[in-house]
Amino acid sequence: MSVSIPASWMPDANMRRIHVHWTAGRHKANATDLKSYHVLIEGDGTPRRGGCPISANDPARRKPGEPRANHTLNANSHSIGISLCCMFGAQERPFDAGAEPLTEAQWQSMIETVAILCKRYGIPVTPETVLTHAEVQPNLSIAQRNKWDITVLPFDRGTLGAQAVGDKMRREVAAALDTARPPLGQPPDSMKAPRFRVSGVAPSTLNFRRGPDGEIVGALPEGTRVERLGISDGWWQVRTPAGHIGWVWHSFLRAIN
Ligand SMILES: [Zn+2]
Repeated sequence: MSVSIPASWMPDANMRRIHVHWTAGRHKANATDLKSYHVLIEGDGTPRRGGCPISANDPARRKPGEPRANHTLNANSHSIGISLCCMFGAQERPFDAGAEPLTEAQWQSMIETVAILCKRYGIPVTPETVLTHAEVQPNLSIAQRNKWDITVLPFDRGTLGAQAVGDKMRREVAAALDTARPPLGQPPDSMKAPRFRVSGVAPSTLNFRRGPDGEIVGALPEGTRVERLGISDGWWQVRTPAGHIGWVWHSFLRAIN
């Protein structure tokens, strides 16, 4: 984990999704790029803060006259827009990445940035909540105009298509979450996730998994307090007191009032 995002870039807000784009511009962010997204990742992997605060995309927190980042057609409320500065002059078919292709350094930096934002805003890593612009139409059923960011990775031509690129991104974000720094500051009361306690597993422990029914990455002892971030059938995504995010089977959790 080498990226760090200042707390001031992540004001309190009710954010539910992260959309990852490319700018179709140069490796350096220009004024138009900065106006359109919350965070930009330049060609060498440097994060830049966009011109609109993340909270401006939360209708309840937007201040009068404050500009909102209009990064996704009809899907800007409660969504964070991240963009990789690249792909100027690129062409989809036949594929030509142009002179300023998406780099591996900016992909890596984006993965870490998304993990930090997921942790800060309690956003679960699912195809409906952490996705590329190219996945907005298929995954959210919100029509877009032939957006192909990101369906191809110039540094990894074996991963092709919106779903393959999106799945790779989510796998890597989930792995990065294990090492992401704990959130800076506490979310406001209105955003607090429901809280539970591990119950009924002693003398054993509750398996803590990377995904629903996924690889076991830890063990929660009886009595451990967790926050619930997401649900997938009987599997719940939870955050531990140490800030780790993973999945557990729901029937060993009791609500805390
Ligand atoms: Zn886009």
